[in-house]
Order: sequence, then structure tokens, then C-alpha cells
Amino acid sequence: MDRRKFLGSSAGLLAAASVGTGYLGMAGSAIAQARREVRVGGSRVTTVDVHSHTIIPAATDLIGAAIANNNPNLVIDQGRIDVMNRFGIDIEILSINPFWYQLGVDDARRLIDVQNQGLADLCARYPDRLRAMATVALQHPELAAEQLEHGIKNLGFVGVSMGGSVAGEELGSTRFDPFWAAAQEIDVPIWLHPQSVPGLSRLQGNGYLFNVIGNPLDTTIALSHMIFEGVLDRFPRLKIVAAHGGGYLGSYADRSDYGCDRSPADCPKTIQRKPTEYLRDMYFDSLVFTGENLRHLVAQYGADHLMIGSDYPYEWTDRPVDHVLETPGLSDADKIAILGGNAIRLYRLEV
Ligand SMILES: [Zn+2]
Repeated sequence: MDRRKFLGSSAGLLAAASVGTGYLGMAGSAIAQARREVRVGGSRVTTVDVHSHTIIPAATDLIGAAIANNNPNLVIDQGRIDVMNRFGIDIEILSINPFWYQLGVDDARRLIDVQNQGLADLCARYPDRLRAMATVALQHPELAAEQLEHGIKNLGFVGVSMGGSVAGEELGSTRFDPFWAAAQEIDVPIWLHPQSVPGLSRLQGNGYLFNVIGNPLDTTIALSHMIFEGVLDRFPRLKIVAAHGGGYLGSYADRSDYGCDRSPADCPKTIQRKPTEYLRDMYFDSLVFTGENLRHLVAQYGADHLMIGSDYPYEWTDRPVDHVLETPGLSDADKIAILGGNAIRLYRLEV
């Protein structure tokens, strides 16, 4: 089927389903979506989507965070499982985009408590289909370290999520070192998801630029600060997972290796390795839009460093599995790794 038509028709279906009683009503009827079982080389593969969003209304309600609740399908019910069944996704690892980085310590503690408990409850409701990453109040790094430890040890989370900057502060700041130390010690993946570039006023006008350009640019800036400010020298065992194929840095990293040679005066700090070497230790999702782009990421970082990212319910794709299956040049082992094997290993999923 013509891809544009296919996307259009399914987007229409989704829109229709979210009106009125929405998915809950549909799911309660006899037309629940049959589960697509993905096979590679004749063998069933457990597929894992590391880039899927949710919110916990009890948490957003605490501060009236309307901006966090910008898509009705962020709230998870049986309809989410139906979408996963249709996509061929067996397990989603849920994350929440930060909207709490401005809060003082007491409010942040209360919000994260409610939110992480809500996430844990959600996973308990669909134990064979959902996992989640801890949310933390990174503006208070010591508190964030506590929240991370509690989330992993007591609430069953498999990683931790964060934004590309923290209320205007860059991730290269040494103020965040207590959090990095905890994340390295507890040894779980850190999901880095962008939220456009605050203050970049040129990303206006026609074209959805604050997202189309802003998000990959935010990831590019965030990862670059972590590299060039020495975060990854101080904490070399951090497991960073970046959304949208690593933003622009995923595809245009080599320039970073040449900058300090061109202009040493702009590089007063010395880092221990070439920038691209730090990137090769990172992981990226598969949310790029052509097989050629995914093939390029495999060539740059290896099939063992890529995992499915659907971005649901922001519908950039409704073919996250086929995107991997149809990418030219991938071996069956590569496909199995990207579809789920890497995530199962990295997040230590019990499947
Ligand atoms: Zn996303």
C-alpha cells in the first residue's frame, strides 16, 4: 500500500477511536486488536519499544501541567495495548517527558512520589506488556539520586528518564554529578529525550520547526555538553540512550572530532577521548525515517547499539517494526538485536 495513504488511513482511525468513549469503549467490545507476532527467520522475536510516552494524571493534576497532557492517548488503558498489538510491539518501556524541573524540593518530592507510584501501578496492571523508567527531580541532584535508587530497588523500574537540559541548566554542569554517580553505581540505562531548545526563538513559523528541528538539536546539544564538559570522563560507565536516532549528532558526529583542532582557543578543557568514541558507547533508538538512515546508524554505532523507538502516541510512525525488518543490508541477527535483543539485555528485562 502507498505509505502516505497507509499512514493517513491509520491516523484517521486513531483519531476516530480517541473521540467520545475512546479506546476504552472500543477495547471493551469484541473488536480488540489481534496481537501481531513478529518473526525473523521463522523464529518468534520479543519486540521492545524503548521510546513510548505516558503521563500519570494524578501527578500532572498536582501542578495543573496542561502542557504535559497534550495528547489524549498519553493516558494508558487497554487502547494502548491494542496499538502495541497492531504495531507488533510486545513490550513498551514507558517514559514521561519532564514538566517538573521548575519545582522546589518539597513540591518536586511530592510530585515524583505520586508519579512514580502511578507508573509502577500501570506496569502492575499490564505486567507482561509494560515496563517503565523512573522519573526524577534532576533540578535537585541529591534528591534525584534518592528517587532513582528507590525507583529501581523498590518500584521495579528498568531505567531512568531525563530531558536535554534542566530548567535552563546544561547537563555538563558538575552540579549534576551526585545524580550521575548514583546512575553509574546502580547501573541502569539513562533515557535522554529532548524538548526542543528553550530560547531558540527562530524556530517559529510554518513547518513545526520547534519539534522537527528543535528536538534533534536539543539532543545534539545535550550529548555534546556531556561529552565536552567531561561528564563521560568522570562517569565512564553511564549507559546513555538517546531518542530520535541521537538527533543530528547520530548522523553528523565526525565534525565534533575536528572542532578543537580547528580552534584550540575554544577548547580550554581537555577530554580523554575523541567525541565520536563516547558516542560509540551510547545507544540510540531507531526513529529515523528511511532504511538508509537506519543503515547509517548501524554502520556508525553497530546493530548492538540500536533499539526500536515508536514515539507513541506522537505518531511519527505506525510501522516501527517493519522499519527494521525492511532496512536493507541487516542480517537476521541484526534485526533480532534491534527489534528486542538489545533492549532485553540493556534493561535486563525478564521476558
Ligand atoms: Zn518522544
